[in-house]
Amino acid sequence: MAIERTDIAYGSDVFNERAMREYLAKDTAEALLHTMRDHTPLDPSIANEVAHALKQWGMDRGATHFTHWFQPLTGSTAEKHDAFFEPAGMAETLARFSGKNLIMGEPDASSFPSGGLRRTFEARGYTAWDVTSPIFIKRHSNGATLCIPTVFCSYTGEVLDKKTPLLRSMQALDRAVRKLMACFGEPDGHVTVTLGAEQEYFLVDRALWLRRPDLVQCGRTLFGASPARTQQLEDHYFGSIKPRVLAFMEDVERELWRLGIPAKTRHNETAPAQFEMAPMFEELNLAVDHNMLIMETLRNVAERHGFVCLLHEKPYAGVNGSGKHNNWSVAYNGKNLLEPGGNPQENAIFLAVLASVIRAIDLHADILRATTATLGNESRLGALEAPPAIISIFVGDDLAKVLQRIEEGTVSTAGDGKARKLRIGVDTLPPLPRDATDRNRTSPFAFTGNKFEFRAPGASQNCSGVCMVLNTIVAESMEVLAEAIGKVPKRRFHEGLGKVLRAVLKDHKRVIFNGDGYSEEWVREAARRGLPNLRTVPEALEPQIAEQNLALFESQGVLMPTEMHSRHDVFVADFERKVRLEGKVALEIARGMIVPVVAHEVAGLAQALSTMERVGLTAGSRCMRETAEALGAGLEALHERCATLETTLAGTDSRAIQSAMADLRTVVDGLETRVDDARWPLPKYRDLLAVH
Ligand code: ADP
Ligand code: MG
Repeated sequence: MAIERTDIAYGSDVFNERAMREYLAKDTAEALLHTMRDHTPLDPSIANEVAHALKQWGMDRGATHFTHWFQPLTGSTAEKHDAFFEPAGMAETLARFSGKNLIMGEPDASSFPSGGLRRTFEARGYTAWDVTSPIFIKRHSNGATLCIPTVFCSYTGEVLDKKTPLLRSMQALDRAVRKLMACFGEPDGHVTVTLGAEQEYFLVDRALWLRRPDLVQCGRTLFGASPARTQQLEDHYFGSIKPRVLAFMEDVERELWRLGIPAKTRHNETAPAQFEMAPMFEELNLAVDHNMLIMETLRNVAERHGFVCLLHEKPYAGVNGSGKHNNWSVAYNGKNLLEPGGNPQENAIFLAVLASVIRAIDLHADILRATTATLGNESRLGALEAPPAIISIFVGDDLAKVLQRIEEGTVSTAGDGKARKLRIGVDTLPPLPRDATDRNRTSPFAFTGNKFEFRAPGASQNCSGVCMVLNTIVAESMEVLAEAIGKVPKRRFHEGLGKVLRAVLKDHKRVIFNGDGYSEEWVREAARRGLPNLRTVPEALEPQIAEQNLALFESQGVLMPTEMHSRHDVFVADFERKVRLEGKVALEIARGMIVPVVAHEVAGLAQALSTMERVGLTAGSRCMRETAEALGAGLEALHERCATLETTLAGTDSRAIQSAMADLRTVVDGLETRVDDARWPLPKYRDLLAVH
């Protein structure tokens, strides 16, 4: 990283190479670095020495505690702090941190979701140091904690976290890439999967936030009429950043840099009070950890600036939601395989990799879609501002033409009008477009020149689920292609390769779509092509337990069927729990805050009307009567719809709860525009969205 100035202190809170060399003996530092770089097992004989050095390094930076930091299925991170200090004699303590403490932990994990993998009475869960992710220090207002990134599994070895399957999927992809590269006669080498996750978020003033029980408890507004002005003028996007927001962003960046997180870009997003921050891409595993820390840092720093950072996918109805674009690519020996090459061999490899991805997405669109199925993301996807729930690939017009010619088995050279046989690997292949300039923002899965950008994931999601599936399905495709290419006789390699690619493209080109992904027409066209359109969370989660997907994840060594089932159970339960919570909060707000205000206003108007009648005042009474009647009718409707919502909450049908909430919202939002502004109990959209 070039960002290295003393005032920035880049990476100063990370046990990085520099720290290792300073605190460890040379051989130990080398062994640890080797383990981290090549993902080899840690030599247990160095654990004690590393632990001792870590304790010293941490304490030198003010750390008093250590924690195993892990990513349970809740979607956030978890930590349980233990002090370094142990009693030693009378009123004395000794700072202790052993290799055992470092390598393994046993948090009381009974409350983490396991989807039935672990019964509460045998709730033992273990955390184990993930040596591929560096140890870091988390600072808080009054101290610091040494954080050891770990994986989390049950006593019997089943995974209970998001990290383990991610690491396994990276191994699967590693194997598959090597197989594919061997077909091209490439020397054995190193596979790197990379991720750059763009993070969108909203800021809201904390004082206003506190007065919105829906924002506080559900992370989104359950009510709120659209103001006259939201984003129609589109003057916020890339606009100049307000000083208070900029001060917040600068603080965020400084904290991230200390953690070695390469925060790079910052800008206003489309909606008012919406922003984005993007780091430079990094190796996938690290990028996932870093994204979790980015979200946490955004939240913490916002508080210090009198803001609250909303990572919910759709905090405000009628206003653009927040996504997290996952930019993904894979490199071999340092060369990005998704970068069209400078010579025919590189181009042939690029096309084989591209074909593998196309095949993977077409065959497994359903399971990829499942990774984005959360309650928060449900209202964002397909809301004509975010990619639809239909998964398709954008490749751009230039590349589409190349693919079409490959499929046809011909390539026409410009000018001579004659079609020639395509021989991949020799220079008859047309030069590949190196930069996809026509960037299509409406595609959920877009090729953007040297990487794929998956735009369906939601802002609050952990990237690991998404990338774990992506790695696994691409690994499977690469293996299939490698097998086919491996059978091609060496003498006629290019011709044979052409045939393999042609067959793949023929079978899977339906998933390629370069048009407007937001249009109604595409929904119909996708249906005609037989592409799945899984709109609701429960139906989108279903593929997680489909037979062929259980078999796929098992055969790739990523998740066992029991683990897939447990995850599915956790995600479904999470969805249902959240719907119920939202329903309850909506009912509380409507009954406890809205009904009294409206009733009060109707009563006030009625009283005023009767006084006016008594004193013989007629001017204005019509308006007041009509207002009172409209409010009265609204009050009746409110009463009824609250009762309906209450009934649905007594049952278990999430859809019914959601639809009763929507009906209730229509009434509340209508009343919001009629009730005395000064009396309306909830801060309105126009105030929430104005960040000064
Ligand atoms: P956008 O125009 O969508 O905002 P950018 O070009 O700014 O996209 O890049 C977005 C993200 O993609 C950044 O985090 C960047 O580091 C990342 N990125 C760039 N190249 C790669 C790559 N080869 N692999 C993964 N991520 C990448
Ligand atoms: Mg992007």
